[in-house]
Amino acid sequence: MESQKRHARVFSFEFFPPKSEEASVAFKVALTQLAPLNPRFFSVTFGAGGSTRERTLETVREIRERQNAAAPHLSCIGSTREGIREILATYKELGVRHIVALRGDLPSGMVDPGDFRYASELVRFIRAETGDHFHIEVAAYPEVHPQAVSAETDLMHFQEKVAAGANSAITQYFYNADAYYWFVDACEALGISIPIVPGIMPITNHRQLLRFSEACGAEVPRWIRRRLEGFGDDAESIRSFGLDVTTALCAELLAAGAPGLHFYTLNRAAPSSVIWERLGL
Ligand code: FAD
Repeated sequence: MESQKRHARVFSFEFFPPKSEEASVAFKVALTQLAPLNPRFFSVTFGAGGSTRERTLETVREIRERQNAAAPHLSCIGSTREGIREILATYKELGVRHIVALRGDLPSGMVDPGDFRYASELVRFIRAETGDHFHIEVAAYPEVHPQAVSAETDLMHFQEKVAAGANSAITQYFYNADAYYWFVDACEALGISIPIVPGIMPITNHRQLLRFSEACGAEVPRWIRRRLEGFGDDAESIRSFGLDVTTALCAELLAAGAPGLHFYTLNRAAPSSVIWERLGL
């Protein structure tokens, strides 16, 4: 953890672009409630294959109009160089200085991977096209990316993203802090010293958590699963337990020297802001 302790802490919140009028109102409420916490940036997800291109842009505009820093995610799978170039130009015009560069996953039914196969190629392209204009974040997987051949090759590919020009990384969420410490130490042994900020998924909904975790390869430890099962449909107990578990994880990570936290908000202020308050940030 030594290389991580040297970095200033960065806190950020992630949104997804709302799909309906109602969802848009909920997003604006969350943004209004989280903005006073003064995070370094609000990031906005991007549907693989460009499916949310316009909505991501709209959401970024909304964040920028309220004088907050925005970090759009940009996933490259299924995209052309020209398409990515256009998006980068639009973000530059909007004054965006921060991008989360990802591969994404091909939506089912889509077979053409387009001009990019891996996130490292996107990072290299952004650097070649725009120099140092953007601070580039990439994804990291302390519990290993679900499609990785092995932990070693996954780490090697992470190193390629750093070599291609990534400035910092945000992890997939996890509930085993040791996985993060091992990952960061393995990076350090390879000479990787960029900030690797833990991604935090507040626990609020049992079924949704299991569904997300199955898809992204995050492990929900047995004791957490069993406790959640025991609460059944008692939403208040799940919320209360989830806040306790997630707050304890955040406190432990920060005490160990993690260089900040990135909250997956799912467009709701409450869980992240309660954790924030409890941590005394
Ligand atoms: P990569 O770094 O390219 O890695 C993908 C896989 O390929 C890994 O298994 C890696 O080991 C392997 N690999 C990499 N390079 C090579 C190589 N040269 N040869 C062989 N194998 C290689 N998805 C979205 O669609 N939109 C989002 O907005 C979004 N936001 C995210 C934010 C964060 C913080 C995180 C952690 C994930 C996010 N994702 C998002 C999910 C992400 O797109 C998926 O996890 C995707 O499967 C991998 O993306 P990546 O950028 O990590 O890919």
